[in-house]
Amino acid sequence: MAVYDAIILGSGPAGLTAAIYTTRANLKTLVIAGQVAGGQLMITTDVENYPGFPEGVLGPELMELWRKQAERFGADFVDDNATKVDFHHSPLKVWVEGNEYEGRTAIVTTGATAKWLGLPSEQRLQGKGVSACATCDGYFFKSLEVVVVGGGDTAMEESLFLSKLCKTVTIVHRRDEFRASKILQNRVFAAKNIRVIWDHVVTNVLGEKKVEAVRIKNVNTSATQDLKVQGLFIAIGHTPATELFKGQLDIDEKGYIRIRSTGDLHTATNVPGVFAAGDVHDHRYRQAVTAAGYGCMAALDAERWLQTRT
Ligand code: NAP
Repeated sequence: MAVYDAIILGSGPAGLTAAIYTTRANLKTLVIAGQVAGGQLMITTDVENYPGFPEGVLGPELMELWRKQAERFGADFVDDNATKVDFHHSPLKVWVEGNEYEGRTAIVTTGATAKWLGLPSEQRLQGKGVSACATCDGYFFKSLEVVVVGGGDTAMEESLFLSKLCKTVTIVHRRDEFRASKILQNRVFAAKNIRVIWDHVVTNVLGEKKVEAVRIKNVNTSATQDLKVQGLFIAIGHTPATELFKGQLDIDEKGYIRIRSTGDLHTATNVPGVFAAGDVHDHRYRQAVTAAGYGCMAALDAERWLQTRT
């Protein structure tokens, strides 16, 4: 069995960027792309903030171009999910169902997914007024009215960002206090166009082709009301895709891979030769462009690490 120089797990912006860099450095590269290849941009419509596309680009179209670029330099692809890894021995091993692959390095770019409320109407109107990323989609709601759900730091940041674009922002939170840091809470309370509705949950998103209103329910009285808004931002956290790496890599209490700077290598995990890039370790920035940047860094780190071994 041929041993790959780099096995990349994941095929979002971080993974495909890493593949472009490893292949161009002449490293024999395998991308385990996942059953639903392409990452979070595959469920995004217009991407207007990715540099180089002055008219914007559709998320799936961007990922198709990205993949073609990685394929052009010779990366192999497996369009399925990795089912098991063994990073305790060298070469590193990755299984996809019955097939086993070996690599001298591995770059983990399996990403994270936004948590959703789980309402059918929320799913139906995703990309039509329902979003989980204000930085990505906020601009589409310029001068409009929106609801943000959540009470953590992300909900505060998303609300503050949206308040600079939107006419009004209504935060709907299920309790009577936020868990967010005080400094962010204070900024939210000081913003003139942000109001908070406590002790309420969203039970339905109304609208046929786009969001027209959000139905909320008082958790104490069960009374419902409809808020006439054009946008609904869900900011209730993210789940990193790290289940596969438990017991193999150092993972923090929220499930994100911990990276550590060892010498020049800024994307190293606790296992020598294994690197991580993108939303799987970064819960702060979570942008396609930052994930791509991390993917590039991890590929350069893997290349540098291999040089020290030969
Ligand atoms: P989080 O801290 O886990 O907060 C999630 C919020 O969503 C909570 O208020 C929670 O309500 C609410 N929620 C969860 N499930 C819900 C549901 N099904 N329905 C309604 N509400 C629900 O997540 P996060 O805000 O994304 O932050 C994640 C981590 O990143 C945190 O450690 C945070 O400090 C950090 N972060 C930091 C910054 C910063 O420092 N500037 C910015 C963003 C994120 P309850 O409060 O009732 O549980």
